Amino acid sequence: MDQELRELYQQVILDHNKAPRNFRKIENPSRFAEGYNPLCGDHLDIYLRFDNGNINDISFQGSGCAISKASASLMTSMIKGKTKEEAEKIFHRFHDLVTGKLGDNPDIEDLGKLAVFAGVRDFPARVKCASLAWHTMMNALEGKQEKATTE
Ligand code: ZN
Repeated sequence: MDQELRELYQQVILDHNKAPRNFRKIENPSRFAEGYNPLCGDHLDIYLRFDNGNINDISFQGSGCAISKASASLMTSMIKGKTKEEAEKIFHRFHDLVTGKLGDNPDIEDLGKLAVFAGVRDFPARVKCASLAWHTMMNALEGKQEKATTE
């Protein structure tokens, strides 16, 4: 990855960490899940308003490192308004991206700003930070009660 792109990606992460989108609680959510990454200490709660297979609203709260917060912020922005199936598809694409399964020069236009996490694949500990919100969102979607953990 060239230096200019790397700096741009860094800017997006810092921006979403400083001013996270959808950082609030949804009262009476239809789904709720907690996520915890013990390696870094990231804690996230995901709230969903889920009706007729559609994610009408999604938000998060909690505390964590810049990567985990920026990922939750971008994830909620991307997932809001999607169907459960669309959200699952994006989850798998994102997961393949951060775990390096898409290769060296992946075609990730469909992932939009999520591309900023392309670089974390080189840092296994950071992969957990970046995926925490996503695993937690999937648990919420599935209606799973147990806490999502990256371990
Ligand atoms: Zn973290």
